[in-house]
Amino acid sequence: MNDRFNKLRQYNTSGLGCWVSLILMVFLLTSVGLGWVINGFLILLGLLFITPVLAFWGFQWWLKRKLIQDQCPVCNYEFTGFKNTEFNCPSCGEALQVEAEHFSRMTPPGTIDVDAIEVSVRSIDEGD
Ligand SMILES: [Zn+2]
Repeated sequence: MNDRFNKLRQYNTSGLGCWVSLILMVFLLTSVGLGWVINGFLILLGLLFITPVLAFWGFQWWLKRKLIQDQCPVCNYEFTGFKNTEFNCPSCGEALQVEAEHFSRMTPPGTIDVDAIEVSVRSIDEGD
């Protein structure tokens, strides 16, 4: 227990010594005229932080260019799809493609869309 505590204290003091020597080195380098070394190091550090942020932004920008959000022309379910690809609506399974920034059905040419109209039995009876 006591031994462990001593080791911990030793570690702490060595860590402090490391920082002190680092600060001393920075002072030494700047006084000698090697400030550019530190500047370069700081720039490198900055780049290390900035690069992932820029990459993230770039990826988002790329996604915005590639992705398109629209409603399914069949069931009006809103979802996102990739441009220049053919896909199925996740809600109704209709085969869709992107045409002029909008989803459109991939119906073969010549297909006529027919809207089913619900006719209640009563209205037919009344008509007779
Ligand atoms: Zn749909």
